Amino acid sequence: MTQKKVVVTGAGGFIGHHLTKYLVDRGYWVRGVDIKHSEYETSAAHEFEILDLRRFDNAVIALRGMDHVYALAADMGGIGFIEQNKGPIMRNNTLINLHTIEAARIHKVERFLYTSSACIYPGYLQRDENVTPLKESDAYPADAEDGYGWEKLYAERMCRHYTEDFGLDTRVVRFHNIFGPLGTFEGGREKSPAAICRKIALAVNGSSIEVWGDGHQTRSYCYVDDCVEGIYRLMLSNHSDPINLGQDRMISINELVSIVARIAGKKISTVHDLNAPQGVRGRNSDNTMLRRTLNWEPAVSLEQGLARTYDWIESQLRAAGRLETASLAAAAV
Ligand code: NAD
Repeated sequence: MTQKKVVVTGAGGFIGHHLTKYLVDRGYWVRGVDIKHSEYETSAAHEFEILDLRRFDNAVIALRGMDHVYALAADMGGIGFIEQNKGPIMRNNTLINLHTIEAARIHKVERFLYTSSACIYPGYLQRDENVTPLKESDAYPADAEDGYGWEKLYAERMCRHYTEDFGLDTRVVRFHNIFGPLGTFEGGREKSPAAICRKIALAVNGSSIEVWGDGHQTRSYCYVDDCVEGIYRLMLSNHSDPINLGQDRMISINELVSIVARIAGKKISTVHDLNAPQGVRGRNSDNTMLRRTLNWEPAVSLEQGLARTYDWIESQLRAAGRLETASLAAAAV
């Protein structure tokens, strides 16, 4: 059998980096494309090209000769970032997605997988912390997360219409809070699990960390190894409608803090910033379609995943000499 050639856009980012490694391990020839290299580890890609996909000519270059496209490139971050950058996010991601799918059509690729988000689900279904898990059909009538969510929903529709009108074989996956090692953990683009791991790693035993909101807001979290396996299984399936990919164990941010503190072996209290961005009040994934379609669902427990993530973030901070600085600062107070 001839070796399949695949491109991963956003391969310099968190999920793209893990996915590239996964696909290389499975025998694919992989081209990584991004505007930057992976921050923490060299990419496993056979070829890595720095290309800005906001330019159409670059998208055409990025996808040349490819059988499958995994479209992960996006301007994105945690809730603070997406609430404060709606204009740039809509502009940049619309250009990236429009160009990537059009290049896929021109090159007549076999399959195209687009990475959407749970942020496309309507705000009116997520006002309660004990939210009913969100199933795929809940997306409409639409009331997506302002900016980032609307752009994702628009790109989902583009996939559908490129399938209907041009015969492009598309897959659309809606991620629910993916976390794990080698992800951004500071600087404003990090998500809640990474931010909490960093804050607890830097905190002295018995001290407190700041938490955005009252901490009763709820989410579900999926470990990155499960995420890349789910992406791959979906690509090989025949399912072209949007599908959730996440865990369906819902916990509050306060519970997340307690789990990480236990992993760290520290006693940590919380100080709540009620003015900080918090996103929706509650969100969970309904995995009925995922189980039925892929005959599979994420398996790594939150505790296992957080332990690996915490260890990696702590080791990064230790290597940078930041743990010593934090404890000296605390001793001086
Ligand atoms: P990430 O920010 O780590 O990776 C995205 C990558 O896209 C980055 O490396 C970035 O440099 C690259 N990129 C940005 N602009 C580009 C451009 N103009 N041209 C080429 N590359 C560009 O994010 P991630 O967590 O790995 O997310 C991957 C995909 O999954 C994104 O589409 C994201 O919206 C989606 N998603 C992620 C989560 C999550 O929890 N991590 C949740 C929902 C959806």
